[in-house]
Order: sequence, then structure tokens, then C-alpha cells
Amino acid sequence: MKGIDGTFDVVGAQAALAHFTTIEPARLCHGYLFTGPPAVGKKTFARRLAQSLLCETPKTTVLGYCGTCTGCTLLVAGTHPDYVQSEGRVKIGGDGGNALHDEEITARDLVRALSLHGYRGRHRVVVLGDVAFATHEAANALLKFFEEPPEGVVVILTTSAAGSLLATIRSRFVELAFGPLPRADVERVLLAGGVEPERARFAADVALGSVARARAVLDDDDLGLRDAAHAWFANAVRGEPADASFLRLDDRSLSGAEKRALVGELIELVRTAARDWVALRVAGSDVPLLAADQRTRFDGLPARDGPALVSLLAAVGDAQRLAHTNVSAGLVVEFLRLQLAPPVPAGRPR
Ligand SMILES: [Zn+2]
Repeated sequence: MKGIDGTFDVVGAQAALAHFTTIEPARLCHGYLFTGPPAVGKKTFARRLAQSLLCETPKTTVLGYCGTCTGCTLLVAGTHPDYVQSEGRVKIGGDGGNALHDEEITARDLVRALSLHGYRGRHRVVVLGDVAFATHEAANALLKFFEEPPEGVVVILTTSAAGSLLATIRSRFVELAFGPLPRADVERVLLAGGVEPERARFAADVALGSVARARAVLDDDDLGLRDAAHAWFANAVRGEPADASFLRLDDRSLSGAEKRALVGELIELVRTAARDWVALRVAGSDVPLLAADQRTRFDGLPARDGPALVSLLAAVGDAQRLAHTNVSAGLVVEFLRLQLAPPVPAGRPR
């Protein structure tokens, strides 16, 4: 295996590192598909790979960049003419926007982005994150690219739902899987980023292998979101009114995307709480919890039998899937609350 010239700073990503450190730069493919759960570093890796390809300092490896040349400087500044990166979730093709996607690209824009040669050098890199192809036209635009790809153009798609991509699209890409990071790696990154040791340990404990989620946990903690979401969960499973004002669903100053992000956080926190509740029920009070700081919330929650707990965990997954559709953030929250509520005895209306 060849080493890396210059800097290439990522954690985890073994499969992608193994791939790009073993291939010759001349054997680089035109399309890569990074798959894996959300927030495990797919886009970060894509960006570092792009910087490696656009770095103008000569090197013998695919990975690695100098950080000081014009190519590196332009990329970091977000103004490199040969680098296209989408923000958030992208829908390609289709009609008008909806709350589901943060950005929309027409099939024509995509064709244009893919058909240009590099301005400055050999490469041009297009990164599309969490991409969905809304129309056949959009999918065809991408497939056309693979029929005659311009020299040096590399497309990187990232997705946490590879199964939802058309098989014809998927088969054109070299697929590389990203997995959750070891807990120690998450803690190390947080410490290197200046997070205090005690907070780093706490966030790494509950981050489920994601640096981004660990940072979100620290942010949530700062905002009181963790406390509020766990209180909401406890009230919902008791069947008591649950205060959801922390989600700011009625706040007109927040965009649909911001509300969706808050609801996404709620669902993640409820998932953690539900797992902890199941663990406490099954393994007793000595079990280590994902959200150990919230342990007292579970005191006095009504008992549920095994099947009810299993369906509760499944319901959180259903809410997450629902959150990825056009259904409004408010309805997703109400759906989740109803799923968590105590089972109603047969014959009594809900
Ligand atoms: Zn450079």
C-alpha cells in the first residue's frame, strides 16, 4: 500500500482510505458512491478527496494535499471553479421545491456541472450529498455522463439510503461503505477540537459513533434540547400532555429546514431514550445507559411488556422514515407522540 503525500486528516473511513491509497492516480474512477449511516464523515471525506485532487502541488498519491497552493486556498475559501458541492439534501429534477430538500438542481444544471472540463487543472469534482433523483430525466442526465465522461471529472454521491437509488445508477459507481466510528476516535476528535475532557467523554458516550452527532449532542446540551426532549419522551410514554414548544414549530422566523432539523434531533434523542428504557426494563438498573445523565427520567415510567417495547422502538424508526417524506414537522411529532402513548385497552376509543 502506498502512503499519502501531504495532509489527509480523517477518522474512520477504513474502506475509502484502503481504496484510495491502493489505486494509482491514473486509475481513478469517474463516480464514487459513499454509503453509510448519517453523520459518520462521508461528506468530510468527499471534500478532503476533492482537495487532494485539486491540490496543485505535485504528488504521487491520490490522497493528500498541501494546504497552501492556489488550488487548496480556493477550495477552502469555497471559490474553486472546479469544485461543485451541494449543501444539505439535494433533489435533482422535478417540480418546484418542498420542505424535504434543502437544495434543488435541475437535470440541465446537472448536465452542465458534469460536462465541463477543469478550468485550472486536470480535475473537476462534483459532490452531491444525500441525493435523490426525482425524475427519469434527472437520473438519465447522470447516466449520460457515464457514457462519455469528460477527462478528469469525478462525481461523488453520498447517501444513507443507497437502496433508494436506481440500480442502474448504483451500478455505475464504485461503492464505498462508511461505518460508525469507535467511541475512542470520537472522543479523540472532540478533545483535539478543544472540547473539555468531561464533556468530550459524555458526548462520545452518547454519539453512537458519529463526530457530527457528538457535536450536535454538545450543542443540544447547550440549548437545553436534550433535557427538553427527554422530558417530552417521559410525558409521552405516560400519556400525559408533552410540551413540544422547544421544537418551535409555530415560530415563523425558522425555516422549514430548521424545523425539520429540530424534529430530526428530537427523533434521535427519543431513539436514545427508548433504547435506554428498553435496556433498563430488560437488564435492570445496573445497565450502562446511552444517556446516563437522564437516568432519573425513567423512574416511575409505567411498565410495558416486551412486545410493546419492541413495537415502540419500531415506531421511532417509522417516525424517522416519515420525517423524510413531505409530511409536515408538526405531524411527524404528533405521530411519534401517539406511537409512544400507553396502549389503549381494547374497546375504548383513543
Ligand atoms: Zn495544495
